Amino acid sequence: MERRVYIETYGCQMNEHDTERIFHLLEGSNYLETKDAKEADFILINTCSVREKPEHKVYSALGRYKWVKEKRGAIIGVAGCVAQQEGDKLLDRIPYLDMVIGTHAIPMIPQLLQKIEVSGERVCETSFDQDGKYLKAVLPERPLDKVKSYVTIMQGCDHFCSFCIVPYVRGREKSRSNEEIIEEVRHLAEMGVKEVCLLGQNVNGYGKGLEEEMSFSELLGRIHPIEGIERIRFTTSHPKDLSEKLIQSFTKLEKLCEHMHLPFQSGSDKVLKAMHRGYTKESYLEKIDRLKKICPSIALTADVIVGFPGEEEKDFEETLDLLQKVQFDDLFSFKYSPRKGTRAAQFEDKVEEKVKQERLSILQEIQKETTLRKNQELEGRVEEVLVEGSSKQRSQEVSGRTRSNKIVNFEGDLDLVGKLVPVRIVKAYAHSLRGEIVSD
Ligand code: SAM
Ligand code: SF4
Repeated sequence: MERRVYIETYGCQMNEHDTERIFHLLEGSNYLETKDAKEADFILINTCSVREKPEHKVYSALGRYKWVKEKRGAIIGVAGCVAQQEGDKLLDRIPYLDMVIGTHAIPMIPQLLQKIEVSGERVCETSFDQDGKYLKAVLPERPLDKVKSYVTIMQGCDHFCSFCIVPYVRGREKSRSNEEIIEEVRHLAEMGVKEVCLLGQNVNGYGKGLEEEMSFSELLGRIHPIEGIERIRFTTSHPKDLSEKLIQSFTKLEKLCEHMHLPFQSGSDKVLKAMHRGYTKESYLEKIDRLKKICPSIALTADVIVGFPGEEEKDFEETLDLLQKVQFDDLFSFKYSPRKGTRAAQFEDKVEEKVKQERLSILQEIQKETTLRKNQELEGRVEEVLVEGSSKQRSQEVSGRTRSNKIVNFEGDLDLVGKLVPVRIVKAYAHSLRGEIVSD
């Protein structure tokens, strides 16, 4: 019997990718995706607890779907970081919840669903799997209707930045073997994928603990020749582990797109030390200079936190100075939110909410201008665009991305999807570019 599954996803690319894996897994158990929760037999909320906002959304989402349970008898589950962190407590708190799935338990979802269907029992699975079996790819059986795909190369983190919950909810760093990764990328290429984005909390730490020790840049070198794959990206890199070899890869590997997401978190050495980041503002800027020198067209993006405990006005100014010096193409900026169980949650010298908000607004205002200016620099230039599908705003248009990861909308047919086409940029906006295809 065919059934329907609805998944609501919060948080980062890791979670988005986990959701894709869950859909592929469930296809094998005759659960097909629905975009309408009202007709779902299984509703799963894939959660994130890295910051406060997405964490709170989980509880309101659960409240929203209570009636689907009452009316249709749908199975309701919670997966991801909140599930890992709260475990059984979630079942106690939410009487209509059937399933709690930790970050390492995704492959068990089909068998746990079956158990619930047969026995009506409520289940909670949050143990960490030491063998890394949870990282095994779920390979799609049919050609995919998308041109790009994530590929997890490692999970977890050993860095223990003092503000971050990830090592507690995703476990220690674990890399997948290069053979497994290559097999997955080959398979995706056969299914029509043209671009892969290699995922990990700290991809430049790839390879630790593997039987065949291998660095991240070596892994890139092995993926590069795979036929059918036209573009390679990766995220996220930790500035401390960004090696010269990886920087050099931008000149050696043609398919490697000129974009680096390199979170700096703060421009103040005092704050960086309290965050336990392992680099200084100066050493971060040196790596940025190397990147710009080796690859002048590189687009740079980063994450930053404002209002970390002890951050004074002069520390915040150091952050603004760093922004000024680097000129990021885009920035993901957050107010510090204390996470239970992390070291920083115990730190005194908390920054007032009002001050955090003010600093965030100042920073975002500055970045908005830089982003627009960086986009405007592309006006008149011809960029290679990988066409991904129809444009969100206008159905007669198509949309794709430049190598620097900027969205471009332009008039064109859907048969361009999956192709690399030259597009002249005619107008830049804050979040996208408008272009016209260069026909010859
Ligand atoms: N591994 C990446 C790194 O080291 O840069 C970051 C991964 S983390 C899941 C994504 C981003 O969330 C971080 O770069 C940081 O800016 C933000 N973040 C993490 N914990 C936070 C907290 N407690 N408060 C505010 N932002 C936080
Ligand atoms: Fe969190 Fe730091 Fe690990 Fe990134 S490197 S996931 S911020 S602990």
